[in-house]
Amino acid sequence: MEGECRGCGKRSPLIPAVLSACADCIRTRPAEVLPAILESHGQIRREFDLPAEAPRTGDGVECPLCANACRLGEGEIGLCGLRTVQGGRLVHLAGTPRGALVSWYDDPLPTNCVADWVCRGSQQRGMVNLAVFYEACTFNCIFCQNWHFRLKHPPGRISAQRLAAQAHSRTFCVCYFGGDPTPQMPHALATSRLLAKRGVTVCWETNGSMHPRLLDQAVELSLQTGGCVKFDLKAWDENLHLALTGVSNRQTLANFRRAARRIAERPDPPLVVASTLLVPGYVEADEVGRIARFIAEIDPTIPYALLGFYPHCFVPELPCTSVRHAQEAEEAALAAGLTRVRIGNRHLLSHDY
Ligand code: SF4
Ligand code: SF4
Repeated sequence: MEGECRGCGKRSPLIPAVLSACADCIRTRPAEVLPAILESHGQIRREFDLPAEAPRTGDGVECPLCANACRLGEGEIGLCGLRTVQGGRLVHLAGTPRGALVSWYDDPLPTNCVADWVCRGSQQRGMVNLAVFYEACTFNCIFCQNWHFRLKHPPGRISAQRLAAQAHSRTFCVCYFGGDPTPQMPHALATSRLLAKRGVTVCWETNGSMHPRLLDQAVELSLQTGGCVKFDLKAWDENLHLALTGVSNRQTLANFRRAARRIAERPDPPLVVASTLLVPGYVEADEVGRIARFIAEIDPTIPYALLGFYPHCFVPELPCTSVRHAQEAEEAALAAGLTRVRIGNRHLLSHDY
């Protein structure tokens, strides 16, 4: 079914209802098209009993954990759903070392990890990755492939100590993902310190929106243990990023640069890895080229994985990423100067459009 761009009027099957604008208009005419898109984000969030936008109460208490910098009045809930204010004090509903909304499983190595082509985990046959899924997020990606965590009621809370105790003699690495580890970083860091003492390699898969001080601690743990920080760079253009995720990418890009500054301390395996989901019509080769130039200017050897998209929940109208789309994106990334580029999720790629 064709959608119509509310900016230029263009009709295309690549304009889903939730966006109602083409990528060009989102980039060049944000004042006209972004308000409706952000309203769509608000509706999605309300469906999951989350605030439509980050609270900005004038005399509220600011949560320092992530780029959203929610300013919470008494009883208000933060964008991630995990913070409130009671009696004038910030209260953590989850995400401290005492308890997090989290689930986990052993994933036999080599696993389908975004960095498995450059890390040591892929050589650890017979061993497992402790895959830790944090059930909250600081973004609202319309293409989230793990959105089901938002349906969980009521979730359990597991302490860092209990989570770390899940590691055993065959646990080679731990990877935090979700959702995103960002809104529960104090729990993830406490778990990591316990696991690092037991020789487990610590890795992160994140949207990169955490406070830089929390990022620094995550980077330090990965450096010490031979792990990596995998940044999901969803778009380079800030307006496109806002449209796709509901949140700016400024903190993510700044944090990426900040973590990448430490690559020379341990070049192999690479400390920082980047990935981008190839969303048809929105994250095409031109956008990938911009992201790749940003990465290459920092260090052209940073590994960059391009991932196939498949249609689901909030964007059921979009097709799977095509082989042509993925190849053009790969060429754009290489042309930008990156030396390590890979197309992941090849099984999802389609041969049409
Ligand atoms: S962690 Fe981020 S999203 Fe959650 S309340 Fe704090 S600032 Fe808001
Ligand atoms: S979690 Fe880390 S070490 Fe394990 S497979 Fe993924 S990148 Fe490799």
